[in-house]
Amino acid sequence: MKLLLVLPKNERGFWGKVSKSGKAGLVRLNLPTIAALTPRDWDVEILDARARPVDYNAKVDVVGITGFTAEMPDAYEVADRFRNKGVKVIMGGVHVSAMPEEALAHADAVIIGEAELVWHKVLEDFKRGELKPRYEAGHLCDMKNMAIPRRDLLDRGMYVTGFNTVQATRGCPFNCDYCTVTSFFGHEFRVRPLDEVIEEIKGFDTKEFFFVDDNIVGRPRYAKELFEKLIPLKMTWGSQASITMAKDPKLLNLYAKSGGKYVFIGFESLSQKNLEKMHKGWNSAKGYKEAIKKIHDAGINILGSFVFGLDEDDKNVFKNTFDFIMETGMDAAQFHILTPFPGTVTYSVLEKEGRIIDRDWAKYHTGEVVFQPKGMTIDELQSGYYWIFRNTYTIKNILKRSLRGPKGIKYRIAMNLSYRKKALRMPEVSGI
Ligand code: SF4
Repeated sequence: MKLLLVLPKNERGFWGKVSKSGKAGLVRLNLPTIAALTPRDWDVEILDARARPVDYNAKVDVVGITGFTAEMPDAYEVADRFRNKGVKVIMGGVHVSAMPEEALAHADAVIIGEAELVWHKVLEDFKRGELKPRYEAGHLCDMKNMAIPRRDLLDRGMYVTGFNTVQATRGCPFNCDYCTVTSFFGHEFRVRPLDEVIEEIKGFDTKEFFFVDDNIVGRPRYAKELFEKLIPLKMTWGSQASITMAKDPKLLNLYAKSGGKYVFIGFESLSQKNLEKMHKGWNSAKGYKEAIKKIHDAGINILGSFVFGLDEDDKNVFKNTFDFIMETGMDAAQFHILTPFPGTVTYSVLEKEGRIIDRDWAKYHTGEVVFQPKGMTIDELQSGYYWIFRNTYTIKNILKRSLRGPKGIKYRIAMNLSYRKKALRMPEVSGI
């Protein structure tokens, strides 16, 4: 039996694309994990449709597809074309779990929730010719003995760095309105046994890797034990983490000592009112500068994330945020236009208020305005986004931030150059 797993593409966005030379960013673990959960008597192929065209004449028995919201139009097209050839299609993931009825118009079966719990049953039913339309996980999976993703099935040549990614935890104790993590992975912060994580990392063939966790310091005691165990491996790594890490000097120290060279932090907004409204009031805008200094002093580079178009934002938000980034010497930043992803509180609220103006999922890549903002026009929001991206990544501004000190300069320059490539693809805006 042949299973083809497809990662679809999105041509509009600035994230998750492959470059002209066919290089991609971080490996997503979803399809390699599904491949690992598939019994070994199956022939499994992972096709990255961002880099290679889909061959609809290929001999396959069943196709599995998952993707981000922005990739769903392509995912549905791939699904429709295979189904027209009589091939069964199974879809899953965060978007599909939030919109199963929509996905069922294109798939023979959908998986709602974490696939680990139902994948065997799906394949057994398929083999018996008894595939059902819906498979619901019903609860969250235990993170003991997790399947080790089949990285051997990936096209290694597509990744310069970022090939080795690993997940140690799932879920988030917080519930920020715009985020899909809690609705999919739950409130409970689940952790893998430390030794299993370390064993997986020891199997990497590079000295560099990335934790794809949403918040690696979500349970500080676990994080400290993990970092202690990483020290002897002498590797370098990065992760997403909450700014709360700056409050714990031991945690910061271990993060750096274990090879944590950079951290991705969701600052989201400099307005405390915005933070409170999105249920992220535990992020203290007032304390940002001090926290950044502490993280820098520990020797860790910061990649900050900001969201624009929140209800308290007016058109000054772009200049204010840019000034803040330059003043604090933030090493790099990424920007997002508020996007109402299905399944989130933001989606329900904007839907109720009649403010969602575009439902073309291809535009849901956080770089296009798909809702009516309150404090500025749609044009002002879109232009401001382009302006701050391009302005943050001029050579002059990259150098100003990167030269804040000799330590970690290699990472700063590399991060900035990759963001500059994205920025240069955006339209130039003369003023805001
Ligand atoms: S944005 Fe971050 S902190 Fe907020 S719910 Fe999502 S993962 Fe948790």
